[in-house]
Amino acid sequence: MASVTRTARVAQVRDHHRSYGDTAVLQGVDLDIAGGEFVALLGRSGSGKSTLLRSLAGLDASPASEVQVDGRTSVSFQEPRLLPWRRVTENVGLALLSTARPEERARRAATALGEVGLTEKGEEWPLSLSGGQAQRVSLARALVSEPDLLLLDEPFSALDALTRIEMHRLVLQLWARHEPAVLLVTHDVDEALMLADRVLVLDEGRLAHEWTLPTPRHARTPTHPHLSEVREQVLAALGVQTVDQKAAGAA
Ligand code: ATP
Ligand code: MG
Repeated sequence: MASVTRTARVAQVRDHHRSYGDTAVLQGVDLDIAGGEFVALLGRSGSGKSTLLRSLAGLDASPASEVQVDGRTSVSFQEPRLLPWRRVTENVGLALLSTARPEERARRAATALGEVGLTEKGEEWPLSLSGGQAQRVSLARALVSEPDLLLLDEPFSALDALTRIEMHRLVLQLWARHEPAVLLVTHDVDEALMLADRVLVLDEGRLAHEWTLPTPRHARTPTHPHLSEVREQVLAALGVQTVDQKAAGAA
């Protein structure tokens, strides 16, 4: 894996609060993301991960001054959200609608589709794609605008295990090639440990836990001692008791 150049911070969040009615969801989030950094965000369901991601994406209905992003962002969600009445290439090009002329849009969309291995699907309709292929198109659409910050909200969680592994490889390839900072929201601890430079856990409205993963990605195996240790700690932070911990408790 090519090393990624770390540049200045692309995102800065300071003491960010967000409530829906009387429900306080984010209660003082602090976060910096460096250029080219790959950050994984975990947290229990309803902890506010998507809320934070939407704030960073500029998709929150009430934007907050505590959230600053320098540069372009793009988002890819759990559902690929492709427009069924537009062909695949056009769906990818939509991300460039306001910035590029039609010929350039088509050219760049075709290149992006090639990068996700779907050159031959450009003239197809989205409904003819498999789940994994649709998710690749969604990634191509997110990357075609060359974002500085790529926001991924559980993009692989609906895919089968093999397709998910392929997607992990693809995301790392694309990350190395385009060098965006990435914020990946996931429920999969192992996914976070295989992909990220840094793992965060959102709990009670704050980023309560953080781990840095210095192990090179090619050396990240399930039995790696440091990663095994971090896995236990992340699971504990998520309130999940592992078999070993249960056994120790019962002894
Ligand atoms: P999951 O892992 O299930 O995707 P999450 O961590 O992404 O969960 P959010 O979607 O950010 O959680 O939601 C956090 C809380 O805010 C939840 O209690 C949710 O019900 C509430 N919430 C989110 N969006 C809205 C909204 N538009 N209106 C009202 N409440 C909302
Ligand atoms: Mg969510």
